[in-house]
Amino acid sequence: MIHDLASIQVLSLGLEEENIRFRAFLGGFDSDALDQTVFELDQLISPKVDCTQCGNCCKSLMITVSEPEAEHLAEVLEVNRTQFDEQYLEKGMHGLMLINAIPCHFLSENKCSVYEHRFDGCREFPALHLPNFQKRLFTHFMHYGRCPIIFNVMEQLKTKLLFEKQDHD
Ligand code: SF4
Ligand code: SF4
Repeated sequence: MIHDLASIQVLSLGLEEENIRFRAFLGGFDSDALDQTVFELDQLISPKVDCTQCGNCCKSLMITVSEPEAEHLAEVLEVNRTQFDEQYLEKGMHGLMLINAIPCHFLSENKCSVYEHRFDGCREFPALHLPNFQKRLFTHFMHYGRCPIIFNVMEQLKTKLLFEKQDHD
């Protein structure tokens, strides 16, 4: 396993072509069986990655916020909705609400300061435990170079599925 984010970022650039081939290769598998394999790898790898040492999703992703989530967090933070929206939110496309800062406002010393009240998108990421892995390949590969869990799951998946990796020499 590779834990170091800087190394993962460099490696991911060198593996772009291989990953295009791998995405196509993954399309040939039964969706449910693939979900199960990815789920098992995620179970194996996630506990070995210390997200508090990384925090890269909170430092680099656009976080969407639903109306109930905004209401709830405003209440928890004891600010009114107008204040909350002005301070923390911006409007994205199609009426989506987004956290208006990257890194996220609520990241403090690499930890989420509102952890118990974090948004669904934060709870789900990197979403390898969810069904329909095949349908989310674009997103997973978008985050492959920034999330050590995704990177290591994908690399172990290549080995497990006997995918022919490129020659790294
Ligand atoms: S989910 Fe991935 S990117 Fe986010 S902190 Fe954990 S390892 Fe880092
Ligand atoms: S709310 Fe918390 S978990 Fe979500 S992006 Fe911000 S710091 Fe990270």
